[in-house]
Formats: sequence, C-alpha cells, structure tokens
Amino acid sequence: MQSARLVIALQKKGRLSDDSISLLQRCGLKLLSSKSSLFYSAQNLPIDLLLVRDDDIPALIRDKVCDLGIIGENVLHEQENPSEEFVFEKVKKLGFGKCRLSIAVPKEVDFSDVTSLIDRKIATSYPNILQKFLKENKIEARVVTISGSVEIAPRLKMSDAICDLVSTGRTLEENNLKEVQVVLESQAVMIKSRGALSFEKNKTLEILLRRMEGVMQAQESKYILFHAPKSAIPEIRKLLPGSESPTIISLAECDDKVAVHVVSREAVFWDTLEKLREAGASAILVLPVEKMML
Ligand code: ATP
Ligand code: ZN
Repeated sequence: MQSARLVIALQKKGRLSDDSISLLQRCGLKLLSSKSSLFYSAQNLPIDLLLVRDDDIPALIRDKVCDLGIIGENVLHEQENPSEEFVFEKVKKLGFGKCRLSIAVPKEVDFSDVTSLIDRKIATSYPNILQKFLKENKIEARVVTISGSVEIAPRLKMSDAICDLVSTGRTLEENNLKEVQVVLESQAVMIKSRGALSFEKNKTLEILLRRMEGVMQAQESKYILFHAPKSAIPEIRKLLPGSESPTIISLAECDDKVAVHVVSREAVFWDTLEKLREAGASAILVLPVEKMML
C-alpha cells in the first residue's frame, strides 16, 4: 500500500529554502530532520519534506516521488513542456521569492521596444520562456543558453543582451546593464501534479492549505486598539484600512469614551495613526497577528 504521508519537495539550499521551511513551521509542522538532513518528517501531521535542488522538483513530482513542491514560477514555466498537456497545477502562490525574468542590455545601447532585439544574441538560463516570448512578439533573435553568471555575457561579447532574474536590480547595475523588458513576473508557488491525490493525502493538503491561508492573512494583518470619544467613531471608521466591523467596548467610569478593537487586513502606516489621533483616538496600539482562521 502507498504511504498516506504527503511528500513535499523544497529547495535544499538557496533563496527559497528559509522561507519555505518557515512557512511550513508557521503552519504548525513540528519537523524532525534525518541524519542527512535531506529529509524531514513532521511529527504532528502526516507530511514529509524532501530537500533537493529546485530544478529537480518538477521531475520528482512527475515521477511521483513527491506529491507537491515549492518552486519559483520561473522554474515551473521553464520546465513545462508546451507540446504535452500541462502536467502541473499551481495550488497556491506563496508571496515570497518575488522576482522577474527580464531582458537587459548594456546601458549605452539604445533600446526603444522589443523590435530592438531583432537579429540580436540574447544569453539566458531560461531558453524556453525566452523563445516563447520572442515567438509571441514575432521577434527573430538568437538565444544563447548558459547556465550561470549570465550577466557577464555582454562584456565577454557572448551576447548583445541577457534575459535573467532580477529582484533589486543591483547585479544589473554592477554589470553596467539596464533592464528594458519584463518577460515574466515570478514568485514561489506550491505545485502538484494534475492527477488526483489519495483521499488521506487530499485531506492533509486541505488542512495545510487552510493553515497557509491563515498564516499569509495573519502576516499582513494587524490588531489595532485605541480609545476614542463615541462621537468620533463614524469618522474614525472611515480611516481604518481594510478592516472588519470594529468591536466597541465601554470604558469603566467613562461615559463618553469607548475602547475600539479592530483587525486590519492591510499594513498600518504612521500616517494612518496620525489621522486616527487627529480624529480623536488616543492610546493607540498596533499589534501583530500571529494566527488567523476565518
Ligand atoms: P539550486 O541549487 O536549488 O538549483 P538556484 O541557484 O537555482 O539553486 P536560487 O538562486 O537559490 O536558485 O534561486 C531560487 C529561486 O529564487 C529562483 O528560481 C527564483 O524563483 C527566486 N528568486 C527570487 N529573487 C531572485 C533573484 N534576485 N535572483 C535569482 N532568483 C531569485
Ligand atoms: Zn536551480
């Protein structure tokens, strides 16, 4: 009989590793690592984690070694074979590992639009995504595939442009390149194969997804408490960002003032607090929300 434990592949060492593990831990997984630390077993839910290179994750899912995986959308799109049915399903976007796959050219090069790439050589580690983009834009260009340090290709005269992952743009800056065209926006996603999971695994996945939703909502949310004159409440409610109905509690020995408690689903900025104060709020506290279940 097949194991009823849900197996999730994560990046072992890299930009997605810490956030992936931390998300699962915040979902309540108590993890016990094996000696090799390639394998973690959750003590309190039927979930096992396999730590591998991110590029290997789609194949491990396709070969049914794992049920789910966490990877960047860039890796998923690169490996998806357009000639076969889509094998993978994005189960959830996870909000970390945000970056974009962009075309960049040396700063001194004039670039008006994508037609500037016609007959140019573009170096990339993402040939499939780039070829698709060029085809969609009817651009004939040469794609040179290199596996790493793509940003030095123009300086080595290997290419006229590059197509690489960018987040802050610092690497481009350091290499005298400018970003001219976004090809793909990417973030970490949880993927699974399109086939159905067993009943038990599916139940575990549902629990995990519900918890992930709670963790992600809580991350954004804040619990705001303050005192305010009763008469100021209508004005104050208009100022509260993305919040539900507030709880209004009367204060001991104070008839005209109330305490207001409210969960805000958005970040709370200093200028909001200043406006609340101007509208009559005092003793304002903004607290992080640890968990949330709707
Ligand atoms: P591995 O050894 O697992 O193959 P890697 O070198 O391919 O690692 P990393 O550099 O750790 O991978 O990046 C993993 C993922 O992080 C990328 O595929 C991408 O989705 C995301 N990412 C976010 N920001 C960036 C960035 N600035 N540069 C590269 N990747 C980024
Ligand atoms: Zn990789």
